[in-house]
Amino acid sequence: MANRSTNYSLTKINDSSDDLLDEVAEIYRQTFARLDKTRQPPPVNVSFYPYVGINHTIRVRQGKVYVRIAEICHDMPLSAHRGLARILVGKLFGKKAPPGARDAYESYTGTTDVGERADHSRRSRGRKVVTTTKGEFYDLDEIFESLNFWYFGGRLQKPTLTWSPRNSFHILGHHDSTHETISISRSLDSNLVPAFVVEYVMFHEMLHIAHPTVKHNGRRYNHTPAFRRDERRFPHFHKAEKWIEENLGKLRRAARRK
Ligand SMILES: [Zn+2]
Repeated sequence: MANRSTNYSLTKINDSSDDLLDEVAEIYRQTFARLDKTRQPPPVNVSFYPYVGINHTIRVRQGKVYVRIAEICHDMPLSAHRGLARILVGKLFGKKAPPGARDAYESYTGTTDVGERADHSRRSRGRKVVTTTKGEFYDLDEIFESLNFWYFGGRLQKPTLTWSPRNSFHILGHHDSTHETISISRSLDSNLVPAFVVEYVMFHEMLHIAHPTVKHNGRRYNHTPAFRRDERRFPHFHKAEKWIEENLGKLRRAARRK
């Protein structure tokens, strides 16, 4: 989770019905009411953003609260949203979330990593995916080799690298440990996408190889604190996240017009 200062004129990528957003915003208002009984809860604006990993932000600006939830948590049950609300709102008050809230949230995220669902449904439909690492603009093989050399001392064993069969704007990358595969969304194979963005998404997926899933009390943790620390070793980390926030919506609309 990260709290970063960004401007709010960004275009949001959002498929969610307003009903869900209203419902989630109401959860945040209730959480404010519970944590600060002396004041009226503030207006809350909730949106889903295509962060690469599981990443959420909460900011206060001119009396209004802005919550951005990673797009991959879109289908999260409301109980998990309640847990996340307690974690994020608690941060503003310097109040640590009780284990119950963390459990509610982590029971969802701990078992469901970004692309696993997508990948699973693709496999279960039995579609065979044939692809090459050479895209129109970027070669995944080259990107992997150079990141492996610079940041992993060449020690990572190369998995199967593929471009995703679909132009997903929600799932930018995925590491499948069962099949030792990294797939990168084809939407990034574009001259409109800077190289550091494609590299960042690849770097994130490579970290999943370097930091295998940790199993603890029957749960699976994919983005451990060590993973998050390493993620910041990528020199364009913030620039890449910012680029994705600001530009993915435009790319998607352009793709739709085609
Ligand atoms: Zn990840």
